[in-house]
Amino acid sequence: MVIIGGGAAGMLAAIGARRGAESAGIECAITLLERNARTGTKIRISGGGKCNVTHQGTPAELLEQGFLRINERRFLRNALYGFSNNDFLELLHSRGVVTEVRPDGKVFPLSEDASSVAMAFEELLKELSVQLISSCRVRSVERKDGSFMIITNGEPLTADAVILATGGVSYSKTGTMGDGLVIARKLGHSIKEPSAALGPVFTLKAPPASLSGVSLRSAGLVVTAGGKSIERRGDLLFTHRGFSGPAALSLSRDIAELCREFGSASLFADLFPEHTPAELDQLLLLHARKHGAQMVRKFLQTCPIAPFKKGLGEAPHGTIPTALVPYIIRYSLLEIDITWSGLHKELRKSLLAVLKRFPLGTVRAVPLDQGEVSAGGVALGEVNPKTMESRIVAGLFLCGEVLDYAGEIGGYNLQAAFSTGWMAGVNAVKKC
Ligand SMILES: Cc1cc2nc3c(=O)[nH]c(=O)nc-3n(C[C@H](O)[C@H](O)[C@H](O)COP(=O)(O)OP(=O)(O)OC[C@H]3O[C@@H](n4cnc5c(N)ncnc54)[C@H](O)[C@@H]3O)c2cc1C
Repeated sequence: MVIIGGGAAGMLAAIGARRGAESAGIECAITLLERNARTGTKIRISGGGKCNVTHQGTPAELLEQGFLRINERRFLRNALYGFSNNDFLELLHSRGVVTEVRPDGKVFPLSEDASSVAMAFEELLKELSVQLISSCRVRSVERKDGSFMIITNGEPLTADAVILATGGVSYSKTGTMGDGLVIARKLGHSIKEPSAALGPVFTLKAPPASLSGVSLRSAGLVVTAGGKSIERRGDLLFTHRGFSGPAALSLSRDIAELCREFGSASLFADLFPEHTPAELDQLLLLHARKHGAQMVRKFLQTCPIAPFKKGLGEAPHGTIPTALVPYIIRYSLLEIDITWSGLHKELRKSLLAVLKRFPLGTVRAVPLDQGEVSAGGVALGEVNPKTMESRIVAGLFLCGEVLDYAGEIGGYNLQAAFSTGWMAGVNAVKKC
C-alpha cells in the first residue's frame, strides 16, 4: 500500500493501516511518500509552533463547534466517532507526549512544542516498519490492470491501494501545492475550486492607521455581497491591511467565496450584536431622555460594545475602543460635540445604523496562500465517509485537507486530518 503525503492525515493513515493489518492478521508493506525532506511540516508550524492538536469534548460537540457546514459535519461524523479526539490523545500520550487542555477547550502538548508531536509519530512509523521515502514528489497516479502505478520524481511504484493525503493548497511552501487535486482530477474526481479559510482579510483601502491594532470584543462581523449577508460573532482585530482575529478568520472562507461569486464583498461590524436595531433604538431613546446634556461621544466612550445582557445599564462599560469613536461620529454625520438632546430622530437613526453596520471596507479576494487551511478540494459526495474510499476509483482512499471541508480554529482541522487519515488507513489495508 502506498500513502502519498506525510502530513497529519498521511502519518495517521500509515499508523492506522499497520494497526489494522496487525489486528486482521494481514501482511502488508506500507510505504509513505513525502515530497519534503521530512514528515509533518505543517504540524511543526501549527498553532504558532505550539500545535493545537485537538479540542476537548465529545465527537458530537467537536462536529457542532468545529464544522459549520452541515454537509461537512455529516461527512466527518463517522471518522470523528471512529477515531475520536480521545483515541488520538491516547495514542499521543502512549508516545510520551503529555497534553494540557486550555480553559477554552483547546488541547496542546504541555511542552508547547509542535515538533514533539511530529517526532512522536515519526518514531512510531519507524517502529511499525512503515517505509518512508522522503523528498519524493508524486507526479501522477494511474490505474492499471486492477493496481495503481505511482509516478514520482524517482522510481515508479505499484500498489494495490493508494491513500491520497496531500493536504490543501495554503502555505504552499510547506509542500502543499495542490498536487493531490491534480492527481484526483485525473483519476476522475470532481474538485471544488480551493479557496482560503482561516485567513486574514485585506480590504481594498486599508483601515485608518489610528485603528491598526485596535480590537473589538465580541463584535458581529458581517459580510454582504449580491444580496447575501453572513455574520460571525467574535473578537475582531484591525490590522494595517484589514482585519484578523477570530471573527475575521472564521468568516474568511465565506468572504472568499462571496468575492469569487460576486467580484467583491462589503464588510461591516455590528457593534451591538446582542440587540436588534429596534431594541437598540429603544435603549438609545431611553438614554437620550435621561441624559440630554451628555455628549454622544462621551456615551460611546463608556458604553459597552457587546453587552452580554440586554439593557445598557447592566452591561460592562468602556468596551468601544476610544479610537473608534471619532469614526462612529463621522460616519453617523454627527457634530463631534453633539449632545443627546441635540440628536433629533434622523440623526439618532443614522447613529443607530452605524452602530449596527459600522463600515469596514470592501474586499476583492482573500489570499489563498495565507489561510491556515484551504476550503475546497475533492468533492465529499465522491468519497465513502465510512471508509474514505473513493466512490469513483476502487482502491483509492482520500483523507485530510485534500477533501472539501474546512474546520474552525481550535484544533478541529488537525483532528479531522487524524480521524480521516486513520479511517483511510484501517480500511485501505483490507485491500492488500
Ligand atoms: C500556520 C498554520 C497553523 C495551523 N495551526 C493549526 C492548529 O493549531 N490546529 C489545527 O487543528 N490545525 C492547524 N492548522 C491546519 C492543519 O495544520 C492542517 O489542516 C493539517 O495539517 C492538514 O493535514 P493533512 O495531512 O491533510 O495535510 P498536510 O499536513 O498539509 O500534509 C500534506 C503532506 O503531503 C505532502 N505532499 C503534497 N503533495 C505531494 C506530492 N505530490 N508527493 C508527495 N507528497 C506530497 C506535503 O508535503 C505535506 O507534507 C494550521 C495550518 C497552518 C498553515
